[in-house]
Amino acid sequence: MNAPAEAAFQRCIDPACGATYALSEVRTVCGQCGELLDVAYDWNRQTVPQKLSAFERKYATRRYPLHYSGVWRFKELLNIAPDDKVLTIGEGQTQLRPEPEVARYVGLHAKEVFLQYEGLNPSGSFKDNGMSAAFTHARTVGAHRAACASTGNTSSSLAAYAAASAALGPDQRMEAVVFVGSGRIALGKLSQGLDYGAKTVQIMGRFDDAMKRVQEVTKALGIYLVNSVNPFRLEGQKTIMYRVLEALEWDVPDWIVVPGGNLGNSSAFGKAFQELKALGLIPRLPRLAVVVARGADTLQRLYNEQGLRWNGGKYDKDLVKKFYAQMDKEKREANTIASAIEINRPVNLPKCLRALEWMNGVVLSCSDQEILDAKAIVGRGGLGCEPASAAGVAGLKRLVADGVISKGERVVCIVTGHHLKASDVTVGYHSLHGEDFKHEFARYDGVTTNKLANYPVQVKNDLNEILRVLGEGAHGSWDA
Ligand SMILES: *Cc1c(COP(=O)(O)O)cnc(C)c1O
Ligand SMILES: [Zn+2]
Repeated sequence: MNAPAEAAFQRCIDPACGATYALSEVRTVCGQCGELLDVAYDWNRQTVPQKLSAFERKYATRRYPLHYSGVWRFKELLNIAPDDKVLTIGEGQTQLRPEPEVARYVGLHAKEVFLQYEGLNPSGSFKDNGMSAAFTHARTVGAHRAACASTGNTSSSLAAYAAASAALGPDQRMEAVVFVGSGRIALGKLSQGLDYGAKTVQIMGRFDDAMKRVQEVTKALGIYLVNSVNPFRLEGQKTIMYRVLEALEWDVPDWIVVPGGNLGNSSAFGKAFQELKALGLIPRLPRLAVVVARGADTLQRLYNEQGLRWNGGKYDKDLVKKFYAQMDKEKREANTIASAIEINRPVNLPKCLRALEWMNGVVLSCSDQEILDAKAIVGRGGLGCEPASAAGVAGLKRLVADGVISKGERVVCIVTGHHLKASDVTVGYHSLHGEDFKHEFARYDGVTTNKLANYPVQVKNDLNEILRVLGEGAHGSWDA
């Protein structure tokens, strides 16, 4: 099949199919073979800088919203729409920080471990990177309603962008519809969707049920779907890696460690680096570690136990089908305290397999106990995270212990979501004692202790009592 004459288009990820579609076609899968789609570029018809450092020049013109945005500053690498269609709310003002305490915890040198804090996005998670790109595409095709199924953060982000579109005037307004599983969504996330005015549909079921329904509903009603099956979202999420490189003065780190849910991020990261390499802008790709929760470990089982590989696009689809059939038969449902990655049917599985091949990747799962302890360590750095985001750090600790990652390697963990998204979990971890803690957290995977808790000190409303408590070992619990 011939590539269309455009400088950017959509293309089936299966190289054996390779069907292409114009950017203006709204679809989530290939019409020929049913596989996922990529956004692809004819790089000869794009103006890409010869050196990545050229992007730094845009700092000088930060008053222009597209140069302020941490996504659209890199527009030459995701040129999916004219500038006047871009919808930005200042996403991507995030930072890469060395975290010595995390480095100590995982057993690496203090200056080798970096956290990329994506919780600093406007809606508090990395999802804004992708949502800005998806909304931009939606505007080019004249959509007026956008929907998603969400474990929480996608809905927060969708609602935030929909609110921003309304501010552009009634003809530009995009209505937001979010589908969430009942009772599973973190309150911080639900509150955002409600506050920003999204139509919120609570389905009696889990995320995987909501995901299936939203695909049916958007198809039936012609609503624009912004889940990460949407290839344009992943284009926005590529920029997380550009910013990591930028913060490292364009040096490629040795490892990228990322929590895996629907596997959009890991897929986007692989694509980002693969393209940069093909363009001659980086000398090599970093390695990739995708960390899933043990209670939602489809990728881990398929990749490590069943040996599923991308295999140049010829991955074993029957194996995947059989796996899901067995999962349904056993009525196995995802269950983890890391609600943002509580997903048993990751929609981007094939793309993630491809990223793992490109980046010589590894996959592992961590228990909720490991995730919660890692979260407490991340919090000590002063920019905390929600539980799912700490999975990367928990995974890194294990990879160091297992000798997969060693001292001298430079590692970047992607911290995907803001601390305040699930503050109930944090407060529970730091304030419940003994049996109360066990009772409250028993329904999660393997959680028995909160050994890193920083307990609040209970004291009578009495000056002498307070002075006594602060004078003595009030910091006693810290290093316990
Ligand atoms: C969505 C989300 C994830 C999972 O990312 P995927 O791209 O779906 O793998 C992880 N952490 C947080 C905080 C999220 O919101
Ligand atoms: Zn195809």
